Amino acid sequence: MRYLSTRGGAASAGFRDILLGGLMEDGGLAVPQAYPHISGAELAAWRRLGYRELAFEIIRRYADDMAPAELKQIIDRTYTAAVFGSDDITPVRQLQPGFHVLGLSRGPTLAFKDIAMQLLGNLFEYVLAAAGHELNILGATSGDTGSSAEYAMRGKRGIRVFMLSPHRKMSPFQTAQMFSLQDPNIFNLAIRGVFDDCQDIVKSVSNDLAFKARHHIGAVNSINWARVVAQVVYYFKAYFAVTRSNEQQVSFAVPTGNFGNICAGHIARCMGLPIRQLILATNENDVLDQFFRTGIYRVRPPRQVVQTSSPSMDISKASNFERFIYDLIGRDAALVKRLWQQLDSEDVFDLSRTPHFARVADFGFVSGSSSHANRLDIIRRVYRDCGQIIDTHTADGVKVGLEHREEGVPLVCLETALPAKFAEAIREALGRDPDVPAGLENLERLPQRFTVLDPDVAVVKDFIERSCT
Ligand SMILES: *Cc1c(COP(=O)(O)O)cnc(C)c1O
Repeated sequence: MRYLSTRGGAASAGFRDILLGGLMEDGGLAVPQAYPHISGAELAAWRRLGYRELAFEIIRRYADDMAPAELKQIIDRTYTAAVFGSDDITPVRQLQPGFHVLGLSRGPTLAFKDIAMQLLGNLFEYVLAAAGHELNILGATSGDTGSSAEYAMRGKRGIRVFMLSPHRKMSPFQTAQMFSLQDPNIFNLAIRGVFDDCQDIVKSVSNDLAFKARHHIGAVNSINWARVVAQVVYYFKAYFAVTRSNEQQVSFAVPTGNFGNICAGHIARCMGLPIRQLILATNENDVLDQFFRTGIYRVRPPRQVVQTSSPSMDISKASNFERFIYDLIGRDAALVKRLWQQLDSEDVFDLSRTPHFARVADFGFVSGSSSHANRLDIIRRVYRDCGQIIDTHTADGVKVGLEHREEGVPLVCLETALPAKFAEAIREALGRDPDVPAGLENLERLPQRFTVLDPDVAVVKDFIERSCT
């Protein structure tokens, strides 16, 4: 399998070549030259597979430059009951007949990002050992991504993590999750500022190419191709869980921010999984819902991003969206390049009066958005009718999923986090606290390890420099 850039200006590369990288050299994203098609016979055989076997069958088709035995061993080590709570890894539960929730949040940080990130940690360690060098991961987080990366990379040989977060601005649970880690290769840098300050510092450091090369600085952001591939697996797993035969179709509702999760659903559908609808749900930051309703993609300046009660979906633009647009416009890289140039200069492109936009339905996409009042209402209804507590992001998915639900088509809503992470909104909706998973009851009382720094690029560089010796 070779990988191309969505903008057509980079040499093709293998899976291992793009594993540690972010953007391709021309600024585009890596995409496989074709999606492997899964035959009816293969699909029938896959129905019997457990999570690890299924993951191996899917991922090996995208990572064919890794020795199969090594890949299998890495997958078997990653997806265990010890890490994900059960051998099912992603259990499906029913809320009502024909309406299911796919549990993706049983990993160490209680959000779906663990599923891909845990694999990434093991893949990175393997590839770095083979190449004989180290990696310093630098990132900015307002919550889920940072903690997921830290739990995936803790204790890994050859890897350090420097994670910037806005000082005293994450929820107490999220803060405790990250700062209670005592591993010497994890560095929590609490920046006196807001999330955008953290992001700006990461950008400045990454733009200093000499510093970046000298210290082997890398990232684990949501455009990482291996993360997307790892997420394809659970669409197959959930499909088999809620159907009896491969004649049936299933629709998925996906709480969406950077378009990584639903991009994996799009890929599963292109591989031949009988998905009827991919129902994209946004919160008040609805740039993607606007696109799917109107054909106009208008990104926002960071200062216009609304802070919501589903904060992991608070985005100004969706970093993985370029992968879908590439497919939507018939893999025309020159056109993608023009559209993103326009986006850079004018913050908008418009496909509304093109034949491309008319094909959105052929790709199964529909969309909707949700407000704070909507998500509290859904949390109350699910609690009252089904006796279960769902988190705010999942509630956005349920709200939009139900609006598009079709008679006779099973609907699966992806549970992207557990409610324990967002206790304040649960208290507001239900007047009670969410249950805290076993083993985490004392999390907020554990000793915390972090360094407070001024929002200053030189100070952060100096910290990295001193920690790398
Ligand atoms: C990251 C995240 C999302 C958004 O996922 P994308 O892949 O960025 O679309 C939704 N919910 C939760 C809880 C998340 O952490």
